[in-house]
Amino acid sequence: MQAFDYASARTVDEAVSLLAQHGERARILAGGTDIIVQVREGRRSVDLLLDIKKIPEVNQLSYDPINGLRIGAAVPCYKIYEQAEIATAYPGLIDAVSLIGGIQIQGRATLGGNLCNASPAADTIPALIVLQATCLIAGPQGTREVPVERFCTGPGRTILQRGEFLLSFHLPPPQKHSGARYLRFIPRNEMDIAVVGVGASAVLNEAHTRFVSARIALGAVAPTPLLAVEAGEILAGKEISEENIQRAAEAAQAIARPISDMRGTAAYRRHLVGVLTRRALQGAIQRAKKEA
Ligand SMILES: Cc1cc2nc3c(=O)[nH]c(=O)nc-3n(C[C@H](O)[C@H](O)[C@H](O)COP(=O)(O)OP(=O)(O)OC[C@H]3O[C@@H](n4cnc5c(N)ncnc54)[C@H](O)[C@@H]3O)c2cc1C
Repeated sequence: MQAFDYASARTVDEAVSLLAQHGERARILAGGTDIIVQVREGRRSVDLLLDIKKIPEVNQLSYDPINGLRIGAAVPCYKIYEQAEIATAYPGLIDAVSLIGGIQIQGRATLGGNLCNASPAADTIPALIVLQATCLIAGPQGTREVPVERFCTGPGRTILQRGEFLLSFHLPPPQKHSGARYLRFIPRNEMDIAVVGVGASAVLNEAHTRFVSARIALGAVAPTPLLAVEAGEILAGKEISEENIQRAAEAAQAIARPISDMRGTAAYRRHLVGVLTRRALQGAIQRAKKEA
């Protein structure tokens, strides 16, 4: 393993100034479950790993039904699903955080690291996108907020500029008659990378007969996770029916640009997008109706 310096920042300003000074040769250390592996295997070369876990803002975890959910970038997965109120309000997010690696990985791995590592197959990104999560980014010019779907720009690449890092996520409070679900396909039960991942959320009318709105997001079928805009628009205002769900699934398949690799061919992945979109939508509807 190459030699590198370690520093631990206690404030946002301290972290921003160290990141600005070192540029691309510095990387944030959150849980370390991606970055340590990459440095050890020589897949990434760094001069400085900057630990952010002592900065108060990245450790926030607060929820209330008026303001929604604030999750600091360095909060490990297990803390999110251990809070009953959060687990009840955001089951679609819990689907994703509770399947990252195994229990040991979930004790370290963070939502911030999952997003900033920018893997096209990262499990939490489609779940965050359908829940309309936004990212609060700190940098030399202060803070800025962007929707999660605009954060990744390519495999391992993000919109973060020199001196910037991710502070926290905000998720709006769940609307009445709404539900969300995240599903992935892997050839075994756990500890694998998604062949395809699909997140879906739906807001229903009071009678639970129609979609008010819906969002669908796809993982592992393009260089970045994708918000399937048209697939969601197809459902808005429409009756809940197999036909409409099928049309949305086809629209999701149409924007997938999968590759063929050892985990599956492009055709197989496109097929999975259809299957998982239908199932994730059905799961979101069940949760909106409080059937699941
Ligand atoms: C055995 C194993 C199983 C895994 N299983 C899964 C899985 O099922 N699904 C899945 O999606 N992933 C999986 N992963 C990958 C990894 O655990 C996740 O991506 C995890 O969420 C990364 O979080 P972390 O806190 O460990 O990130 P780190 O390794 O600390 O950081 C990851 C990257 O993001 C950057 N970064 C971290 N935080 C910030 C920030 N706040 N601002 C700017 N940059 C930041 C780092 O510099 C680094 O480049 C697995 C990994 C292992 C080792």
